[in-house]
Amino acid sequence: MKKSSVKRSWAEPYKIKMVELLKMSSKEDREKALIAAGYNTFLLRSADVYIDLLTDSGTSAMSDRQWAGMMMGDEAYAGSENYYNLEKVVKKVYGYRYLIPTHQGRGAEHILSKILIKKGDVIPGNMYFTTTRLHQELSGGRFEDIIIDEAHDPESEFPFKGNVDLGKLDQIVSRHGASKIPYVSIATSVNMAGGQPISMENLRNLRQYTAEKGIRVIHDMTRVAENAHFIKVREKGYSGKSIREIIHEICSLTDGATMSAKKDALVNIGGFLAVNERQVFEQARSLVVVYEGLHTYGGLAGRDMEAMAIGIEESVHDDHIQARIGQVEYLGRKLMESGIPIVRPIGGHGIFIDAKKFLPHIDQNNYPAQSLAAEIFLDSGVRSMERGIVSAGRNPDTGKNNKPELELVRLTIPRRVYTQAHMDVVAESVIEVHRNRKRIRGLKMIYEPKYLRFFQARFKPV
Ligand SMILES: *Cc1c(COP(=O)(O)O)cnc(C)c1O
Repeated sequence: MKKSSVKRSWAEPYKIKMVELLKMSSKEDREKALIAAGYNTFLLRSADVYIDLLTDSGTSAMSDRQWAGMMMGDEAYAGSENYYNLEKVVKKVYGYRYLIPTHQGRGAEHILSKILIKKGDVIPGNMYFTTTRLHQELSGGRFEDIIIDEAHDPESEFPFKGNVDLGKLDQIVSRHGASKIPYVSIATSVNMAGGQPISMENLRNLRQYTAEKGIRVIHDMTRVAENAHFIKVREKGYSGKSIREIIHEICSLTDGATMSAKKDALVNIGGFLAVNERQVFEQARSLVVVYEGLHTYGGLAGRDMEAMAIGIEESVHDDHIQARIGQVEYLGRKLMESGIPIVRPIGGHGIFIDAKKFLPHIDQNNYPAQSLAAEIFLDSGVRSMERGIVSAGRNPDTGKNNKPELELVRLTIPRRVYTQAHMDVVAESVIEVHRNRKRIRGLKMIYEPKYLRFFQARFKPV
């Protein structure tokens, strides 16, 4: 019998039980709000935003089960039952041996960097992440990018743009020696590259190489479930495996992990550090008390840990992740069909607009991506985020602006929050701004904070 070729749609594997009303605004309202925010979408008040695609961090909708879990919070200072529930789930789903909860991902990065990095160390990684790199630098280390070249090319259709270039890594190891490299920092579903996955094959090769050199692999597992989806649909031999099985295999190829549970794990706050080495765990357990809280809550309420434990279980269901990425793809395809330049292939957690191509008349020193994010907000109240020269910050040695290849605006989709109709509204707004793109001028920076400047910098039209 011939196989049917009729395309069947996905649909959200949930129904809506409670809604949050949105506020519509006028163009005049939005103009005022934008000026007050110094043309930085991070400084807008959420009440002035219509559809909020700033980030997928902490913006997910929790399930009825997670909310029920919140009521089961055991708020004991020490030894909360929820900690043990979380520990059990982390061990079962991810396979890491020891757990240290933290208030969010950067809390885990802070503690791990302090333990593993010495002054003068080098930390190779598959593209940087803002807080990860800063914690490496604050501990005296230096980040070196070892992602494959395709990741810096928004038009490359390579299916695993999160892959490591082992040649680049080998050069760094030869130059500095393995003893200067405490670990290789590997993100799954690389945020800054556009939510692009690393393949299991690449991870396995990396594991083999680093094992020979005696170097750890530390996993930024913030979006591991989304990466697992891409392995399932794109990598040979994985179509029959469950997301859960693939995640377990990814984690088994690494020595420890930092997690921002605000992303894949479907909670509004939380994170953790997970390691396999007893000695690292003991040091982390001692440091967490200084910076986060006791090792059985790490800056979280008991109820937060319970919601996280339940969220982790929900996040590894195949139907959940298929619908989550299906929605991102829906928006991406709509934009592509209208000729909007976006990073391809479409990534896991959002659509990344290529602002250099969208606004070729604006010099990178006049912040094309920052300008585009401001214009989209002005047009429709849709909030997006700059991921370009502002986010890239300055070189700590020379003080000069880092000039990234990628100058992007990120439309990040929160999990289980917006509908397909919202995606239509977003696409129509971006298309409208594109139609009028020649009228857009760039910005100049009038205030620059010392750390992670993209959060609080202020701008003015040139
Ligand atoms: C968000 C994020 C972090 C930092 O986590 P927070 O919870 O925001 O502190 C680290 N790495 C990646 C890839 C992230 O997306």
